Amino acid sequence: MAEELNPFKIAQEQLDEVAKIMELDEATHQMLREPMRTLIVSIPVKMDDGSVKVFTGFRVQYNDARGPTKGGIRWHPSETLDTVKALAAWMTWKTAVVDIPYGGGKGGIICNPKEMSDGEKERLARGYIRAIGRFIGPEKDIPAPDVYTTPQIMAWMMDEYSKIMGYNTPGVITGKPHNVGGSKGREDATARGGMFVLREAAKFKGVKLVENKENTHTPPHELMELPDEIPTGDDVVKAAIQGYGNAGYYAHLLLTRMFKNVKVVAVSDSKGGIYNENGLPFREVFKVKRETGSVTNYKDGKKITNEELLELDVEILVPAALENVIREDNADRIKAKLILELANGPTTPEADRILHKKGVLVLPDFLANAGGVTTSYFEWVQNINGYYWDYPEVYEKLDKKMSDATWDVLNTLKEYNEKGKEIHCRNAAYIVSVKRVAEAMKTRGWV
Ligand code: NAD
Repeated sequence: MAEELNPFKIAQEQLDEVAKIMELDEATHQMLREPMRTLIVSIPVKMDDGSVKVFTGFRVQYNDARGPTKGGIRWHPSETLDTVKALAAWMTWKTAVVDIPYGGGKGGIICNPKEMSDGEKERLARGYIRAIGRFIGPEKDIPAPDVYTTPQIMAWMMDEYSKIMGYNTPGVITGKPHNVGGSKGREDATARGGMFVLREAAKFKGVKLVENKENTHTPPHELMELPDEIPTGDDVVKAAIQGYGNAGYYAHLLLTRMFKNVKVVAVSDSKGGIYNENGLPFREVFKVKRETGSVTNYKDGKKITNEELLELDVEILVPAALENVIREDNADRIKAKLILELANGPTTPEADRILHKKGVLVLPDFLANAGGVTTSYFEWVQNINGYYWDYPEVYEKLDKKMSDATWDVLNTLKEYNEKGKEIHCRNAAYIVSVKRVAEAMKTRGWV
């Protein structure tokens, strides 16, 4: 089963496939198949009961040809070095596809934060930074939050690093709280970036989205105050969203506020999904999720499973939860024209090929969800300059980066297919990224 595959092997196979299409030279290919640097550290932490527990942490700096490495830190009981290596590789392609001056990295600690007190978490965060401190920095490697790590944890890490250096260094870590240098707009950046990708890809695919330009660069807290207006008429475009966390609920908010003719008909979370062909109003569904813990408690809708949600008759499908949900066994039944992968790895390689044959345009994760890292880059720029931007400025810059990246990928897709080299959109995105990293390595004289 796909779930049991080694993620680093998958990352290497994806690269191998693209290297062949691009006719990449052997040395460049070999450099890109393995991380440049891998750290494994032991972190002793005094626990609340007086004992000392030793945690294992990783930091992988995959490739820094285009700039300092960048990527989150995951805290998970089943974290593995291979997962971290795979994610660091994907960060390399992600920062390259949106053309921000970074390489790719990732970190992780094997731990269960759900069983730890705040004090224990703080000591673990500070211990990790003492262990990897001299290998990171605003010009070297810049971590960020990821699975089970929060803005508060980033603040402790930034503080520990600043203590080691002897001066305030906010640019060492992004995803910090606003009062210690976090950027405005980071909260919905992943979904917002995805909307810009979707808007441009819809033009390419001939799906007519009517943009509500007044809302395009409006902060989420203002959009949440707007009443829900569910569109009717012949030009309605239906959408379904799997997952209702940070990526999923902001996707619901933004799809319904940024476009005048998008109707979200289904949403889900780990408990299941709800469907209403007349549309699901954001404010009410969000309230039910916040108050009861699950969207399935929303009354005005039919209960459906997560599998059924994927196969609904909609134009836009947004997987925003788990990996490997679109597979060989269900890809054929998917009816959407556009799939916006806000989740990491929701589509297996076999499903990619099936969907491409069916004419479905899959907007790959490392493009579709790159709004987060792009806004992290803006945070770093603001920290280094000591000058901070307001919401519209952040979103305008994000819009430009994501739109340009989308067209770089779509034009590559068109170009290769016109040349008779049949590729799908994920391959096209890989080609754009690998080319950028390969050219940087060549210019620097590495290969
Ligand atoms: P989150 O923890 O905030 O939310 C996850 C959601 O998925 C929850 O609503 C949960 O109920 C739901 N879920 C869990 N198991 C499910 C299942 N079996 N079926 C359907 N839904 C299920 O996480 P998030 O930050 O929204 O991240 C979601 C995905 O997006 C992940 O793949 C993540 O790697 C990716 N992503 C997120 C960001 C970001 O900035 N938040 C950036 C890049 C990628």
